[in-house]
Order: sequence, then C-alpha cells, then structure tokens
Amino acid sequence: MEEQGQRRRRVVLVPSPHQGHINPTLQLGTILHSKGFSITVVHTQFNSPNPSNHPEFEFQSIPDGLMDVNISARNLVDSILLLNENCREPFRNWLVQMIKEQQPGDEIVCIIYDEVMYFAEASASQLNVQSIILRTSGAVTVVARLVLFQLKEEGYNPLKDPNKLQDPVPRLHPLRVKDLPIFPSEITESYVQLINNAYSARTSSAVISNTIYCLEKSVLSQLQQYFQVPNFPIGPLHKFAPSSNGSLLKEDTSCISWLNNQSPKSVIYVSLGSVASMDKKELEEMAWGLVNSKQPFLWVIRPRTNNAPEGIELLPKVLAEDVQENGYIVKWAPQKEVLSHVAVGGFWSHCGWNSTLESVCEGVPMICMPFFEDQKVNARYLSHVWGVGLELEHELERGAVEKAVRKLMVDKEGEFLRQRAAQLKEEVELSTRKGGFSYNSLNELLDLINKF
Ligand code: UDP
Repeated sequence: MEEQGQRRRRVVLVPSPHQGHINPTLQLGTILHSKGFSITVVHTQFNSPNPSNHPEFEFQSIPDGLMDVNISARNLVDSILLLNENCREPFRNWLVQMIKEQQPGDEIVCIIYDEVMYFAEASASQLNVQSIILRTSGAVTVVARLVLFQLKEEGYNPLKDPNKLQDPVPRLHPLRVKDLPIFPSEITESYVQLINNAYSARTSSAVISNTIYCLEKSVLSQLQQYFQVPNFPIGPLHKFAPSSNGSLLKEDTSCISWLNNQSPKSVIYVSLGSVASMDKKELEEMAWGLVNSKQPFLWVIRPRTNNAPEGIELLPKVLAEDVQENGYIVKWAPQKEVLSHVAVGGFWSHCGWNSTLESVCEGVPMICMPFFEDQKVNARYLSHVWGVGLELEHELERGAVEKAVRKLMVDKEGEFLRQRAAQLKEEVELSTRKGGFSYNSLNELLDLINKF
C-alpha cells in the first residue's frame, strides 16, 4: 500500500508461474516502483509468489484451474495453454472491477505481461488499456525458434533423425540440431501454437527483454525484422533491482557462512534451476566427480515433490560421507548472493536464462549441462560465442565431471575461460551504468509508459 495521500499511476504485472519467470517480473516491478509507479501483481494460484517478500506491491490471485493438473517439465506446454484458457475470464472480471474502482491519479497506466501469459493482452485491448510484453528468455532463443519454424515450412525437419543431432542448423550458426529449443523433442502442434501466441505482439505497444545488448547485439538487430513494435533490452534486471526476491522456496542462507570459510575462487556452485531433475545414477556420478575433483562445492539439491528419498539419501553411505566432508548441500540457495561471493570460482549450471545472466554478471565461468528448451541454446552460446562456458555433453560420467571441474576451476587449460568471464563481467557492468545501453533503454521505456 502506498503512503496516505500519495497517488501513483499503477502498473499491473502478470508473471508466468515459474521461478525463472517470476524473478525477472518482480525485479521489473521493483524498478518501476522505484520510478514512482504503484505495482499490482496478478498471479495464478499455482506457484503464487510470496507477498511478504514485496510489501510495497499489491498482489491479486486469480483462479487458474490447474489444481488437478500435475505440472511437470513434461506437460509444460499444455499446462501453459490451459492456463491461458482458464485465466482469461477471471482476469477480465478483475480488470473491469479495478477500472470501475480506480481514483483519479491511480489509474492503471499499463499491463506488462509475460509473453506466455497472453490472455492478459486480450482483456487489455478489449478494455482500452495499454499493454507491453515481457520476454524473460534470451534473444538467441527467440531467433532460433523463429528461424526453425521458417525452416520447417521449407521442409527441413531433422529432429526425428538421431544421426543428425550433431549437424549444424542452417542460418543458426553455431547451433546444432541437438541445441534447438524444442520441447519435448519434436515440433508439436501445441508448441507451435504456444510460441506463435507468445511471439505475436497483437495490440501490445512494446517488448521488454531481460537481456544485455553487448551479449546479443547481432541477434537483437535480427529480431527487429520480425517484430513491428520497439524492443527494450533492459537487462540484467536483477542488477537494477538487487533487493528483489521472488524465491518460491525458502533460501538456506547457512551456505553463506560456509562460503565465508572457503578460500577465494575455490568453490564450485552446483545448481540445476527450478525444474530440471536427475535420477539416482546421475546424482551418483555427479557426486563422485565432485568429490574426486578435490574442489569444495556448494550443491543445491531441490526437494522432490513426492515423498521419495531425496538428495544425499539417494547416495551410497560412503559417498554420502565424502560429499558431506568436501561440500555443502542445500535445498535452495540465495543464488545471486552465492554467485557474487568471493569464494565462488565456478558454476555448474543447467543454463536457464536467469542463471546464465547472474553468472555472467559476476564473472563466474560455467560448466554447462542443459536439459531442455532454451537451456540448450544458452549453453551453446556460453561455450561457443561468449567463451565463458564448458559444455558437459554425453551421459554423465564421474571421470568427465572431475576433469571438467578441474579445468574450470584450476587447470591451466581453463585459464582462458576464467579470463574471458572476468572480461565479460566488465563489459556487462557498463551497460547498467549511466549512459550504458540498458540504462538508456530503461529510460526510453519509462518515457513510453509516461506517455500512455
Ligand atoms: N535460484 C535460486 N536458488 C537456487 C536455485 C535457483 O534463487 O537454489 C534462482 C536463480 O537465481 C534464478 C532462478 O532461480 O533466478 C532460476 O531461473 P533460471 O532461468 O536460471 O532457471 P529455471 O528455474 O527457469 O530452469
């Protein structure tokens, strides 16, 4: 709630209910709030954000009808399509009511919605409210999907042929077929429907991208030919809003005390994000590789949703003891704080877009182990374009893990990665400083919103 007597024009934010989308949306809210707007976050019941992390915002839950759907990485596309169907009406009803009740001075100035929550645009346009799209993935992924769809129209479809996975994809250098952002593993009708809806601007006035111009210069200009509305690359959002916290799980801050007792740049941080998961065998190979590398490690092993054994309970007793001796395990870490800690020298990641940006911003080189979707594109760019990542390919095997960790952290062979990461950090930092690309782009965005 705002202080009494102070009226602010209101921005409505509509996040997609997944950790990697909630974080940047709330960060954007924090930025806009600091620029004088009131913020209302309209969210689904599924994965609803914790209002106590942002007492300066108002939160409004809408029914999403997902109660009986067991949402997992497997049915992500269908669940988002369903969510758009289910939320359309409740959102419109809420918006009608809000418009009826608004006072002069605190009118809704615009709705900013995650690109996959396009139901919000339908209501906005019906009720003559301005809208803007928020894109939380990298531009490289957007271009990859658009080019892939074009190639498909031209008859190109190598996805079904396992012998072609290593082949380069035309017009998408350096991506190989196996790097394409497709999920699960072929271009289904639902997938095309979702992406087409997400990438159509319809009546929205602009796109906000959580990306950094110096990272994605060439693809960003390529994108402009596909979209008729202005695109504002204002990332990394977390650097403009360091206090914002969108964690759905409780952060275990005890790992910071543990990090405080480690030598500078000695620790490898291991986290595979909020969705990807591993089976027992993979977990075991990871554990052996980490222990054998002789580097201390901080490892996030998320709790499972069912009551199955989790984390080191899955490991043989001797290995579990070694893990506890050499590393520290948490269920969820304060990741941004971890990556900026002096003791952290490397990040073994699934390469979600937020994790990618957070690591690049802190100059932390990465071991890239993508699972699906845009993670594969990000991993390829981290290793083959930005030069700060080491791809861990093929089946997980302890020897390969040990070698990769040592290369990333200490071996001479990996020196170029560590140097490049430090250099890229400086380039990226410039973009958020006064006069930098993201700084200017943010001001242009604010000018646009202020004109609404
Ligand atoms: N994250 C965190 N603690 C953890 C693991 C992840 O706070 O232990 C945050 C991380 O900082 C990032 C987000 O969760 O902002 C994950 O988003 P990302 O796009 O990297 O991956 P996704 O979860 O979408 O797969």
